[in-house]
Amino acid sequence: MISAVLTIDDVPSKNTRPIVDYLESRGIQAILFAYGKRLERLPENGVYALQHGMILGNHSYAHPGFSKISFEEGRREIEKCEELLDRVYREAGVERLFRPFRFPYGDKGGENKSALQKFLKENRFNKVKDTQIAFPWWKEQELDRDIDTFWTFDFAEYRIRPDSGFTMEDVWKRVYDPAPQSGGPMLKDGSNHIILMHAHDETEEMVPKYWQLMIDRLLEEGVQFVQPAFF
Ligand SMILES: [Zn+2]
Repeated sequence: MISAVLTIDDVPSKNTRPIVDYLESRGIQAILFAYGKRLERLPENGVYALQHGMILGNHSYAHPGFSKISFEEGRREIEKCEELLDRVYREAGVERLFRPFRFPYGDKGGENKSALQKFLKENRFNKVKDTQIAFPWWKEQELDRDIDTFWTFDFAEYRIRPDSGFTMEDVWKRVYDPAPQSGGPMLKDGSNHIILMHAHDETEEMVPKYWQLMIDRLLEEGVQFVQPAFF
């Protein structure tokens, strides 16, 4: 068996609603990492996701690389997004039970890494339960200790852009790669994953319903999506 928690970055987008409708139809609860500027622009799509059973996580306010900003700037980035998330949860009438966080680009802040982890811990952000992840590099890279939500598999579908040369074929190559250079092999039997996908309207223009194509493919391959659990 292969099990996976689904995470979707850069919400809310225009395609957030159809993605949520689709996930609901498949009985999949995902963590949607939202960033502040997008929450300001499309709060109703954040509300919609919550009212349809999704969890919203913090993905900063302006989506900077945290190694390129100071600790103080990073702290403000996180706090500003928190305020917006609290507001969206209130508007949706949904109780906010969990506070997962994901760094933009997975950039953990360079020299500020430990200060940022301490901040996340002290401010009661929730670590996604990862004890079932058995890839050796997960512990070697101390991802089992970090509070932020990293991932074990990245579709990389955000690279599908006009002129990028990256297509859905490359996405499928990643899905079927038995020995990827980064992350864990998606379809290795017995593995447990945190999967990364993005809600990008730019990708939607290139490949309509790319999210359904990718998730349906994993379902066909026997991947079971599990409800996110937290420490
Ligand atoms: Zn992002």
